[in-house]
Amino acid sequence: MSDAIHYQVVIAGGGLVGSSAALALTRRGVRVGLFERHYCGAQASGVNYGGVRCQGRPAEQLPLAMRARRIWDRLPDLIGIDGELVASGHLRLARRESDLAVLETWAAMAREHGLATELLGGTAFRKRYPWLGDAAIGGSLCMSDGHANPRLVSPAFARAAQRAGAVVREQTALTHITHDGTRFQIRAGDEHITADWLINCAGAWANTVAGFFGESVPMKPIYPNMWVTEPLPHFIMHNLGVVGGGVYARQVERGNCVIGGGRGRGDGEYAQPSTQTTRAVMRDACALLPALRDALLIRTWSGVEGETPDSNPVIGASQKVPRVLHAFGFSGGGFLLAPGVGEVLADLVIDGETSTPLDAFAIGRFDRSAIPAVL
Ligand SMILES: Cc1cc2nc3c(=O)[nH]c(=O)nc-3n(C[C@H](O)[C@H](O)[C@H](O)COP(=O)(O)OP(=O)(O)OC[C@H]3O[C@@H](n4cnc5c(N)ncnc54)[C@H](O)[C@@H]3O)c2cc1C
Repeated sequence: MSDAIHYQVVIAGGGLVGSSAALALTRRGVRVGLFERHYCGAQASGVNYGGVRCQGRPAEQLPLAMRARRIWDRLPDLIGIDGELVASGHLRLARRESDLAVLETWAAMAREHGLATELLGGTAFRKRYPWLGDAAIGGSLCMSDGHANPRLVSPAFARAAQRAGAVVREQTALTHITHDGTRFQIRAGDEHITADWLINCAGAWANTVAGFFGESVPMKPIYPNMWVTEPLPHFIMHNLGVVGGGVYARQVERGNCVIGGGRGRGDGEYAQPSTQTTRAVMRDACALLPALRDALLIRTWSGVEGETPDSNPVIGASQKVPRVLHAFGFSGGGFLLAPGVGEVLADLVIDGETSTPLDAFAIGRFDRSAIPAVL
């Protein structure tokens, strides 16, 4: 037992959340072991839609989202690539009058957080966006938002953490964790390791890790449905969403349109896209973007993400065991947030506190009676 490799911090899960935490901690001088049961960035963090978007988030997420958004501008310095980040702006579309009221209310709230949006409607909107169909009657533009390539960004965070000095172990699952009163005793693949701190960034599988501390939460897997078209002439200027959700679209430099909406299916471990969902959502997408009508869809996919009952993540300290931190349950919105979450987790380990409000994300907020005994 005494030969076990010791880390100040062990992180379960090499998605974007775990990898950015590993990078933030390592840059501040902490000895980190990042353990990923498959490959870093191969799950939700590497297959998502790529929306880097503050617009549309609930008020409680905005301080964290805006902190995260500032980090995205520093990607070349931090991870050595820009991740194809494009500050295209995010246009949230209204399809009915009541949607315009939703956009106005959200804009007033965001203004209080220092986030500017421009509300558009009527003839000015139509003139500015001739490529939008009649289904869109107005929108709200948040110019600081954009999109990036998840397939590049997520593994690059893990590689940057490794270059900075973190030990990154892929194909190594954490299968058992206890605390002996002094330190964490951990089974990592075939090895026994120890740690002063344990951070649970295990994504949709985080209840397995939380379960070691009797702290599972009501979280279910979801499988967002995604597809991409052949390259088309450039016409989608912004990252697009709609009030109420259901369809979103962006166009990359090569011309391919990446579109998402609805759910695929899965078994908690693997995800598959749904042809039926793609067909149904594509009808809505074509009503908003008529130029998509004849586009060839070249690929569809999905991924596994953990969704909580209030769609907010769990971020912060365990209520059961000191020096356990959780960061999971991002409910479809963790790509933008992850770099900010990494810094917040480093604050909590090193400073014992963070300036970013986390109360809404406390693990103790759930109704314990709603949690099944066996998860
Ligand atoms: C299809 C899709 C589209 C999305 N679109 C967007 C978007 O446009 N914008 C946005 O902001 N968010 C989006 N999201 C959500 C976003 O991708 C996630 O919130 C975010 O990537 C979560 O990061 P993570 O690191 O928590 O999880 P993951 O990337 O899933 O990483 C968790 C990792 O933990 C590993 N792991 C699990 N258990 C163990 C263990 N015991 N030991 C070691 N490793 C373990 C897993 O193998 C996995 O690699 C989307 C998600 C999906 C699936």
